[in-house]
Amino acid sequence: MIVQPKIRGYICTTAHPVGCANSVAQQIDFVKKQGPIDGGPKKVLVIGASNGYGLASRIVAAFGCQADTVGVFFERSSENNKRTATAGWYNTVAFEKQAQADGLYAKSFNGDAFSNRIRQDVCQTIKEDLGQVDLVIYSLASPRRQHPETGEISKSVLKPIGAPFQGKSLNLNTLEMEMIALEPASDDEIQQTVAVMGGNDWTLWIESLLADDLLAPGANTVAYSYIGPEVTRLIYRNGTIGRAKDHLEQTAKQLDAKLKVINGHAVVSVNKAIVTQSSSAIPFIPLYFVILTRVMKAMNLEESCVEQMHRLFQSRLFNGNGIIVDEQGIVRMDDYEMREEVQKKVMANWERVNIRNLRELADIEEYNKQFLRLFGFGLDNTDYQEDVRIDLAIPSIKS
Ligand code: NAD
Repeated sequence: MIVQPKIRGYICTTAHPVGCANSVAQQIDFVKKQGPIDGGPKKVLVIGASNGYGLASRIVAAFGCQADTVGVFFERSSENNKRTATAGWYNTVAFEKQAQADGLYAKSFNGDAFSNRIRQDVCQTIKEDLGQVDLVIYSLASPRRQHPETGEISKSVLKPIGAPFQGKSLNLNTLEMEMIALEPASDDEIQQTVAVMGGNDWTLWIESLLADDLLAPGANTVAYSYIGPEVTRLIYRNGTIGRAKDHLEQTAKQLDAKLKVINGHAVVSVNKAIVTQSSSAIPFIPLYFVILTRVMKAMNLEESCVEQMHRLFQSRLFNGNGIIVDEQGIVRMDDYEMREEVQKKVMANWERVNIRNLRELADIEEYNKQFLRLFGFGLDNTDYQEDVRIDLAIPSIKS
């Protein structure tokens, strides 16, 4: 099949198998070029392993630390050769093939990480194949969650709290600026968002692993969060998703106390804003991102997802001196983004930006490029006129 991008708002409904493989290969190549990370983990579980920060973490663990990895994600294979699989599916095909070629153990689970069944299957596999893991990365971004005991379905919403909010945003269909208005969330919507994106499910994973003695002495667990600047505060950090992130950060403290029995730690890492399938769906974030990118590039501070995860492993988690955290006990990978001189320029440009000067103040082309790359499009070394196979199997997943 000749695969072309089909974009609907903030999602692309097709993915290019060769492009995704090339994108993964580039990330692996970057990590290998940095050399081995001394003292890194050797057996790693990544929950949310097929895209964005979770995929980059799995790549750094495997190819930077030579770790055996187990990955969990929710993706779709190609259906009867009629439509392409999702990008995360193709990313994992490429990841596992390279891991195998390098003699690294890699097993993947495609299914609902919120369910008891997937958690139990993963624990069983760790017990049988690896014995224990020494790092658990929790990198889920999901719009809904079915509670594993009650069956109740919660949906996550991206809304302000307490008052409506109106502001500048980027229309992802036209790549032009627009004003959007959002009504405040109800108490129920806040609770549902916390149920999906807070720390409840992370706790269930860590408790299950602990109960089955699957965490090695000194094992760590890390979940990812975001804070961001003043201009997105009302919709992000003070909005529904921010409440979920507050919960995630409180959960880290509780899990850290629980992990004392194995001398382990639980922390949250606050990462930088990047273009991923999930972040593109958050109102106002893409506009902030395009303004931020122009400023960070000009200051030589721009970092890709995998570059950032490499820095997280090498300089914050496994640097030989324990985990480096701020005064709140949080790992800060948003340090470049939040630098005063960066934010001053971003704020000034945010105030000035309008329909006419958008392309002068914001890096729209870079956003477009990064968005297409998420689905394997727009890579230099990929022939998009070529007839490619779309029904690829993930080596460790039986069909
Ligand atoms: P992403 O959309 O790129 O990846 C999400 C992953 O979760 C995928 O592997 C997907 O398959 C998996 N997933 C979703 N629902 C699932 C389910 N029910 N069961 C199993 N797997 C499921 O997301 P991302 O942007 O990398 O976000 C990961 C984490 O990083 C989130 O907690 C997010 O808030 C945080 N974060 C993101 C940014 C950013 O700008 N993108 C910044 C800071 C922190």
